[in-house]
Amino acid sequence: MSSSLYIHIPFCVAKCSYCAFNSFSGLERLQERYVDAVVVECGKIASRGQKKPLETVFVGGGTPSLLSSGQLQRLFGAISNDFEITADAEISLEANPGTVNKAKFETLQQCGVNRLSIGVQSFNDKELHAIGRIHSAEEARQAIENAQTAGFSNLSIDLMSGLPGQTAKSWQQNLETALSMSVQHLSLYQLTVEEKTPLESMIEKGRIQLPDEDMIAEMDAITMSLLEQSDFTQYEISNYARKGYQCRHNVNYWRNADYYGIGAGAVSCSHGNRIRNIDSPERYCELLEADQPVQAEKECLEREESFRETVIMGLRMNQGVSTKDLQERYGLDFEQVYGKIVEQLCAQNLLERNNENYFLTVKGRAFANLVMAELV
Ligand code: SF4
Repeated sequence: MSSSLYIHIPFCVAKCSYCAFNSFSGLERLQERYVDAVVVECGKIASRGQKKPLETVFVGGGTPSLLSSGQLQRLFGAISNDFEITADAEISLEANPGTVNKAKFETLQQCGVNRLSIGVQSFNDKELHAIGRIHSAEEARQAIENAQTAGFSNLSIDLMSGLPGQTAKSWQQNLETALSMSVQHLSLYQLTVEEKTPLESMIEKGRIQLPDEDMIAEMDAITMSLLEQSDFTQYEISNYARKGYQCRHNVNYWRNADYYGIGAGAVSCSHGNRIRNIDSPERYCELLEADQPVQAEKECLEREESFRETVIMGLRMNQGVSTKDLQERYGLDFEQVYGKIVEQLCAQNLLERNNENYFLTVKGRAFANLVMAELV
């Protein structure tokens, strides 16, 4: 049974040019109804019976920090009323600069949130403007400082490399600024151009250019060098933490363990079966108001399919996957399932075995997509 809960809040002030998430701007009028609907779905999920108390709760989006203080109080009130939660549970919320102030952070503290993931993306105004973020670098700094003043001592910030106009030097400055801000966790993503986004169309029309491969390689080298000199440790392809500050919610996800998903477009996972709610926030509200189910699709994975998925996701983490755990969970032997592929990946220095664990080497992490394609 799940010990993790994800709640999706699909509202944003404006849509960033690269964003393909299930998020919408201009739907402020729906926020109140949406929170009501989420409260109803919390009750429905909890009423099915909870075998394990929640160890992690993650409110993501979209921009959950866009909710008013009253809406946040109702949301977290429902979570704590409906679910049993462990005393040391990790309760995370995604917050975007430009939607938070001191009072909002104080509300979040009172709601029991003990971890914030702040969507900084860049500390450079030109880079922020190029991807359509609503905030300035100064607002991002201010958001981090305000969160710390409000008492948050488990802060993560997201940064993106490979942004239009970004240079190796400005990426280095971004990282140095992040490392100077006394945060506990860093998520470092490379910009990906998603289909049908304004970013894709701007690139196709030649209006903007992304850094070339050599520049990206230089940025990656800077990341490795600066992080190695810091007290952050990489624990997943894109994630770094000070000791004791790995994101427990995401580790549960990368282990392909069960979790509840509540909200529009949210996914629940149970015993390898995945249920996805409908994407439209408006329809989600209508269905819950009419006491109708909100599930849009259900995917039931075969045993070996689920095994392979667990391997792919687990290899994202530096500790890799345990052949013993896989055997216990699926009754399948890692080396028998993959046969010669594993030998070849090890011979190419992309994959390595240490006792019962297989994990990606440094080279393997750089070519992770190729390795995963072999193992999927
Ligand atoms: S803030 Fe996040 S979810 Fe919202 S549009 Fe930007 S990238 Fe998408």
